[in-house]
Order: sequence, then structure tokens, then C-alpha cells
Amino acid sequence: MNSVLSKYLFYYPTTMLNGENVYRYLSLYRRTQHWGVNEIEAYQEKKLKSLLQIACASEFYKDRVNVNDLLVRTGKDFFKAFSDTVPLLVKQDLIESKSTMKTQSRSRSTQKTTGGSTGEPVTVFKNSTGLAKERAATWRAYEWAGVTIGTKQARFWGVPHSRKNKFKASLIDFVANRKRFSAFDLDTRSLEKITNEISQFKPDYLYGYVSAIKELADFTSSEKGMCGRAWPMKCVITTSEVLSQNDRLIIENAFNCKVFNEYGCGEVGSIAHECAFGSMHIMSENVYLEQTEDGELVVTDLHNTIMPLIRYKVGDFAQIGSADCRCGVGLPVLSSIGGRAYDIIKTPEGRRIHPESIIYIFEGLQRESSYFRHFQIIQTSKDDLVINLVPTGNWSDAGRFQLTQEIKNTISGSMNIKINIVESIPREASGKMRVVKVAKELL
Ligand SMILES: [Zn+2]
Repeated sequence: MNSVLSKYLFYYPTTMLNGENVYRYLSLYRRTQHWGVNEIEAYQEKKLKSLLQIACASEFYKDRVNVNDLLVRTGKDFFKAFSDTVPLLVKQDLIESKSTMKTQSRSRSTQKTTGGSTGEPVTVFKNSTGLAKERAATWRAYEWAGVTIGTKQARFWGVPHSRKNKFKASLIDFVANRKRFSAFDLDTRSLEKITNEISQFKPDYLYGYVSAIKELADFTSSEKGMCGRAWPMKCVITTSEVLSQNDRLIIENAFNCKVFNEYGCGEVGSIAHECAFGSMHIMSENVYLEQTEDGELVVTDLHNTIMPLIRYKVGDFAQIGSADCRCGVGLPVLSSIGGRAYDIIKTPEGRRIHPESIIYIFEGLQRESSYFRHFQIIQTSKDDLVINLVPTGNWSDAGRFQLTQEIKNTISGSMNIKINIVESIPREASGKMRVVKVAKELL
């Protein structure tokens, strides 16, 4: 589809129907990206104060935050008091206090289940204005990479299992002028099929998981020809996993264009995006970022007034720096982002399975039935997969059956799947939670 048609005929009208005025905020964010430090801080202070007032109407926050004390402070004094007195929010709070965190706001809301990559899927509610601002900031940042709403995208992402969700995903993909490929089928036959389809589709850019795009890059480089050389591509946008310098070089060489990395988390959406000069600019109009003493990132979603996420520990590590970038964007910069890294599961048939494909199953089940609090997947031998599960009261034999079937359908029918019910899942000696682990001798 023509990108202009896609943008004005499908994308804007569809998002407007959901109450999301992306167009308005995108125009605004094209201007605010040139703000200086003082303007950004003044804006964030105003938004934080308004958010704190709204949050205090909820049962969860009313005793947690001394809002009157914070409201009278200004500037550096306000930000210091905010960091010193508002307690950190952790994922467990989102799981246990989901209902008490919701405010009385009457705005339209969307529910999203996310965060499976940490073994603890959570459900977050977000208002349509917050979502529109999240999308606007993302599109603004994609414009740094030379693409915009409606530009033809080949997307390496999850492909839903059920017919209903498949249909929904294909509608969304149509509206956004993109074609979806499973990021999880990494074997040679699938890669051959994918490269053929990409050659016909002729996308302007690739978007998706670092590991999936890297697999495709390795494949196209080894097979000589195929998608990278068939037509000029504007860029590759990678997301959701750590992008090593080596991966970046392999992808850039294979597709002969620049890689732009995106960093975010499902609970708040996009947090930082790379510009043409390699800086990860923070989406400061939408998020207020802090760091704990040991470098863990703490985020406040400035616009989620339905289920406020204030001082939320996202579980990744990074350095926050000032904006000093030749691209001219005034937004501050995030560096040394470290976080999610996975082991790849290998089936007895030799297929390589991206862990996100299993995590996707858990997120789907959680959305429908809230069966568990935590999970962990361990491949103990070539044929054996052990699932450690901390259940909720909803867990049942039906859940056990459903989970086993879905894993068998996605990964391999010939693997033995053992579900252990446990009280908690221990962290690694490093303190990190490893959700998908593969025995060393299998790696
Ligand atoms: Zn820049």
C-alpha cells in the first residue's frame, strides 16, 4: 500500500476511533524535541504534580505519597523530595494491587498484558491519551530513522495462535501497512520462506527483536543475495533485547543500512530511541527517568492517569546522561542499557526456538485466565523441558492441560513437559531473574 494512503486513510482514522489523537501529539512532539533542559524539567514537574494528585485518589497511593508536601516544592527541591519520599514500585505491586492502583478517571482505557520476559506477566491499564502520546513519541523517533506512519514495514514479532487473535493482528498490520513474520521460527526452511516473501513485499524497513533480525541477517549474508541486495532499505529498527556492537555490524552489513535501536518496556511503552548520530534520546515528554544507586532504571509514566506507574523499577540497568548530540534533538540520552538476554532452546528435531515464543504463550494464558504469578522455563536435556510455576487460586488441571498443549504445539510435540508447582522462583547469584534457561551442555 502507498504510505500516504495508509497514513491518512487507515492509520489516523483507526486510532481516532480508539480515542487516540496521534496526529495532534506527533505534531507537538516534533516541536518539543528541541526543548532545552529547563523546559523539559518544568514540563515534567507540572505533569508529575498533576499525576501525583490524581494517583492519591486511589487506595494504593493515598498513604504512600505525601502529596501536599510535594506540591509546595519547586524545581530541584521538588525532584529531590520526589525521589526521597515516594517509594519505588515493583512488579509484584502491579500483580498484587492491580485493582487498588486504579484511579477514578473516566477516560477510555486499554488493557495490556506484558512483562513476560521477566517471568512475571502483569496487566496494566492505560488511558487512550497516554497511548496516543506513546505512539506519537515512537513515530517521532522513527522519523529520525527516515520512516514514518504508513511506511512499509516488515515486522519480526509474535504471531498469535488463536484464529480470533490472528485475525485481529492481521487487521492491525493492514492498517499500519506492515507484514508480520514470526520472530520465533528460526530454522533454515522458515528463513528461506521469509526472505522470499520479503523480496516480494519490498518493505522500506525491518522492525523487530534483535535476535530474530540477526538470524535473518546471518542467513541472507550466507546465502548471497536475497532481500538485502534486492532493493534499497531505509533502516532496520531493533527492539526488546540488548543490541551488541557485533550484532549491529552484522545487521548493517547484511542489509546495507543503519540500525536504529529502540528501548522500552511493555508497561510504559517506549522509553528511548536512537537518533542518526547513535544517541538513545529519552522520550522525556512521556517518561520521567531516575536511577537507583546500583544503576537500575526507575520510570514514571507521566500520562497514565488510569493506573499510575510512579517510580517503577523496570528491571534493566542504564546510565542517564545529558543531551549533547549533534543531531540537534534536546532530549537527554540513555547509555549502557543492559538487560534481557536469553538462552535459545533447541528441540530434539534441531529447531532453534526463540524464548519469546514460549513467553508469548504464558502472556496469552495470563491474559485469559490469570493462572500464575511467576514462571520459569528450563531445558534440562535435549528432550526435557521443566516449567516452574508459582500458581494463583485460578490454577487447575484444565490450565495444566492447556499450557502443556500450547507449548507442545509451539515448540515440539516430542518434548517431555514437566510442570512443577513451586512457592517461589530463586534468582541467579547475580540477582537477575533468568526466565528461560538452557542446560550448559546444550548451548
Ligand atoms: Zn541525537
